Amino acid sequence: MAKINENFLKLQAGYLFPEINRRVCAFKAKNPDAKIISLGIGDVTQPLPPAIIEAMQRAVDEMAAADTLHGYGPEQGYDFLIEAIIENDYISRGVDLDLSEVFISDGSKCDTGNIQEIFGQDNIVAITDPSYPVYVDSNVMAGRTGSANKNGQYDKIVYMPCTAENNFIPEPPPMSVDIIYLCFPNNPTGAVATKEILAKWVDFARTSKAIILFDAAYEAFITDPDIPHSIYEIDRAKEVAIEFRSFSKTAGFTGIRCAFTVVPKELGAYASDGRAVEVNPLWNRRHCTKFNGTSYVSQVAATAVYTGEGKKQTKRIIDLYMNNAATIRESLAKLGYRVYGGVNAPYLWMKTPDGFTSWDFFDTLLQRANVVGTPGAGFGPSGEGYFRLTAFARPTDVKEAMQRIARSV
Ligand SMILES: *Cc1c(COP(=O)(O)O)cnc(C)c1O
Repeated sequence: MAKINENFLKLQAGYLFPEINRRVCAFKAKNPDAKIISLGIGDVTQPLPPAIIEAMQRAVDEMAAADTLHGYGPEQGYDFLIEAIIENDYISRGVDLDLSEVFISDGSKCDTGNIQEIFGQDNIVAITDPSYPVYVDSNVMAGRTGSANKNGQYDKIVYMPCTAENNFIPEPPPMSVDIIYLCFPNNPTGAVATKEILAKWVDFARTSKAIILFDAAYEAFITDPDIPHSIYEIDRAKEVAIEFRSFSKTAGFTGIRCAFTVVPKELGAYASDGRAVEVNPLWNRRHCTKFNGTSYVSQVAATAVYTGEGKKQTKRIIDLYMNNAATIRESLAKLGYRVYGGVNAPYLWMKTPDGFTSWDFFDTLLQRANVVGTPGAGFGPSGEGYFRLTAFARPTDVKEAMQRIARSV
């Protein structure tokens, strides 16, 4: 008799985006002429820039000839890409990394979801609330939690509320925790962490022998020069942190797929007898066993992001999205809404008007302005009373959406 992994039965239905979809479809059925603008999903809309497209096309041509064909590559990724990453993303910020500390993958969703596999079942996991759903759900699947309560919070996870009161940045928890998920710039709140804040977390992790899983998927959107792009800009962070980066939002790779994870050699965790164990070889073993490498074409494309033209062209696209963010911020502020984020992140996190739950506001915006956003409650209970808008839409759509909101809500 085949038994299932019962942890999967604890998962709450993948409720957020299907429910948004259901409400939008119902609205469209009743209002077939309405032109709906989506500022809901965190996906890019601008085409890939020419430097990247040309590099990919050359890589595709190589695949067309036996002499230049690339079959399986190294599971950890090609050195040409890893070298470009280390030089441009790390050495430029005073962080030295060895080639063996960077693991190329096909996405940070997979990496942030898979990383928990190399850690013990009995770790206490601390997660910000609201958060990217992968952190919670991957730990539920692994059996590291109990069941969900009526608020949707799982037993044994330590939730760290992020609200306007703490500027959407939690303090290290008072109890002992072992694995800590942090994401800055944050999805969904758009909050960023200063060096002082990250140093506090690194300190906490060092004294509690915990590990920080640092998701930096949005580092390229940081505009403030004082905000760190990597957690390794903090002294001794290599001893306690794994960092996740992705080309998805940075360079429009959501459909191409390329990301990477940094696991420093200095990073240690503990066996049950208290012996310190290096984490890097464990992730290497896991990666080589269960992953067969990111496509050559994707890795060539990612390398082109670091060329002179590649940098210029991707920066222009990021600037376009950040202009959208500024438009949304200013328009909503003018209407009297309290809006957070959108300065160092492509997400705007707004307080819903008094008396509106985040789903009430979703329905109102859809009906009156035909604009779709994401109810904050979908990212965790502390997201209730907030609403997420993304800056990834086309500029004309953003402007029109703001005009409609000004007219109708
Ligand atoms: C979009 C996103 C990622 C990137 O996911 P990919 O699988 O690399 O496309 C990672 N973390 C967060 C918080 C994100 O929003």
